[in-house]
Amino acid sequence: MIYLNGKFLPIEQAYIPVLDRGFIFGDGVYEVIPVYSRKPFRLTDHLSRLQHSLDGIRLKNPHSDEQWRELLEQVIACNEGEDQYLYLHITRGVAKRDHAFPVGISPTIFIMSNPLPAPPPEMLQKGIPAITARDNRWGRCDIKAISLLPNVLLRQLAIDSGAMETILLRDGYLTEGAASNIFIVKNHVLLTPPKSHLMLPGITYDVVLELAQGHAIPYEIRAVSEQEIRLADEILLTSSTKEVMPIVSLDGKPVGTGEPGPIYKQLSQCYQQYKACIMRG
Ligand code: PMP
Repeated sequence: MIYLNGKFLPIEQAYIPVLDRGFIFGDGVYEVIPVYSRKPFRLTDHLSRLQHSLDGIRLKNPHSDEQWRELLEQVIACNEGEDQYLYLHITRGVAKRDHAFPVGISPTIFIMSNPLPAPPPEMLQKGIPAITARDNRWGRCDIKAISLLPNVLLRQLAIDSGAMETILLRDGYLTEGAASNIFIVKNHVLLTPPKSHLMLPGITYDVVLELAQGHAIPYEIRAVSEQEIRLADEILLTSSTKEVMPIVSLDGKPVGTGEPGPIYKQLSQCYQQYKACIMRG
């Protein structure tokens, strides 16, 4: 069952008008929230990023955090599976096609839940290949906008060359992945770029930095150059659905030893412990 504009219905019966501005202009924002043991993970953070995205496109939040919590609870309850991921999507609504904001319309609100499979053990143990590409996206990548065409094209570049993620470089510096945040390790120090308009402020990015802090893993939040990525001992990818994953080859060349490294192993273990702990509590 999905939620669409006040109703719960089977996805096959959910339709939106063709003049929805999400369809016409990609005029909307979204969130992806993992749910473990039927509890949404870091929901406060996801709701505050949603607010940031809505502010970024100048769309009034249609609900209070309390209302969102209730709605999401209801969606979780009417779907199967202990572990799910919620996809929450808000567009500016339906109006005659005109770039300028329409007046007097209501936003379209869509929420669905899908089963959240654990990341494949093979990928966690052996790592995944990635490529690099120029980050040709716009200047507000901090907004979780539904207009994802550049990300789609950039991710497909990876798939076309037999890799799984594309690491993006802007003016010779790391921004993020096509659908993930990126960390590198050099000389036992975890490095990642600071949040800016050029990357999505990942919830998993925050969790990993908190874990590094809590477990005395040295880290620095600073600009990371292309040269540093190419000479990294380890590269890690983070996202809500992939959690923490090791990247073991870049543009066909091995990263460090070509195998998942010690900092990845430590962080991945900490991540699983943290997840289990907050889900219990
Ligand atoms: N950057 C981009 C471009 C993303 O699409 C995502 C989410 N898939 C992330 C970073 C990671 O964000 P989060 O940890 O909140 O899933």
